[in-house]
Amino acid sequence: MTKQIVFTITLLITLGIFAFTVNRLIGFFRFTKRNFPVRNIGRRFRIMLDVAIGQTKIFRRPVIGLFHALVFWGFCVIVIGSIEMVIDGLFGSDKSLKVLGIFYKVIIASGDIFGLLVAISILIFLARRLFFHIARFEGIEMIPKTHIDAIVALSMIFLLMVSLLGMNAGYYAHQKTAAEAIAGSYPVSSLFSRIFAGMSLQTSSNIYQSCWWCHIILIFIFANILPYSKHFHVFMSVPNVFLSRLEPLGKLINMDSVTREVKLMLNPNAVLASPPVSGIPIERFGVKYCNDVSWKSYFDSLSCTQCGRCTSVCPANITGKMLSPRKIMMDLRARMKEKGPGLVKNGLDYDDKKSLVRDYISEEELWACTTCNACAQECPININQPSLIVEMRRYLVMEEGSAPGGLKTVFSNIENNGAPWQFSPEDRLLWAKDLEMNVH
Ligand code: SF4
Ligand code: SF4
Repeated sequence: MTKQIVFTITLLITLGIFAFTVNRLIGFFRFTKRNFPVRNIGRRFRIMLDVAIGQTKIFRRPVIGLFHALVFWGFCVIVIGSIEMVIDGLFGSDKSLKVLGIFYKVIIASGDIFGLLVAISILIFLARRLFFHIARFEGIEMIPKTHIDAIVALSMIFLLMVSLLGMNAGYYAHQKTAAEAIAGSYPVSSLFSRIFAGMSLQTSSNIYQSCWWCHIILIFIFANILPYSKHFHVFMSVPNVFLSRLEPLGKLINMDSVTREVKLMLNPNAVLASPPVSGIPIERFGVKYCNDVSWKSYFDSLSCTQCGRCTSVCPANITGKMLSPRKIMMDLRARMKEKGPGLVKNGLDYDDKKSLVRDYISEEELWACTTCNACAQECPININQPSLIVEMRRYLVMEEGSAPGGLKTVFSNIENNGAPWQFSPEDRLLWAKDLEMNVH
């Protein structure tokens, strides 16, 4: 009974802190734009199964991709055992899901094997971060805090797996010593349990119980640290893939308000007959502040794993430009974290005299982008960085008239000559002046 009471209080504290964090984030989302409709649910499910569950994009780097996929699949299986622990903790039962029979054996055996595989994978990830120079873990956005964040989260996952295997081994040893039935199957922990051979019933029980508590407390702490860490992708990546942009990556999405203005010029009667698409008055062209972004861009920024796969394929970054698509996502998240509380407290008028464009992301970075979409193509969780970059450029051009000199010439040529070139429309056919034509 004491165990149940302590567990229930611990669970309530965990859920309370988590609810506070989620509520805080929802508060930030309220200040983003709603211009990302979610349709085609069936197609989205297929993409989610392929990219998130199947981890297909991760396998583009086969070796390290395999270790990452093992961690992801391991989490999916192990989480069932964690649910059982919560049920047991609340109701004072032990191995409550054993009623599932053979399915239970398969799940527990898979979790046991994955526990070891995940632990090995995490050790490899830690070694890479600590002892090897991996180019994509470097960059101006990768400050010491980001490395510490990653190392803390990886270490916690490792401890989670050690406590899981310790718990399983302790349980196995206890049941064997007591000659009682073993619920589930433990292909890995049964081997580790030999360490406990010869121990008394009480000792093996103590090992089982202390590992049980360590494991569940670590889960509770981890769940509450994640939203403040790059490892928030543990929660966010699958829904983010479900919410992937469905249009071809190269397609620039027109701005409704601008499209309407152009149509108005071409055919005023037809356009006036139909109401504006959004029905919402335009506040800003493009993105200047973090609260100008779409809710999907903010979702992207929270999901970013900071893996650097995008930056590693960015032609601008590779050729020494300032641009790093990973930094764009990290800057948006950091900026919303900084400004969000002020927005929630004071409303949309809150202004701390800083903006996402310039204070966080420079014009030089934005104009270095070739909109090649290599970053979006490579991102393992289908984040769309170019759409945010284009929105920030739209702000610069449409609200500030600010663009690199070469582009300004193109804009004025389009305005004056109807083409990007510096020739009058009347001269357009001069190239054919001296050609002999057969006219029938
Ligand atoms: S779209 Fe822009 S940010 Fe993305 S890879 Fe290409 S140049 Fe880099
Ligand atoms: S945007 Fe995607 S590819 Fe780039 S660092 Fe984040 S998760 Fe990795």
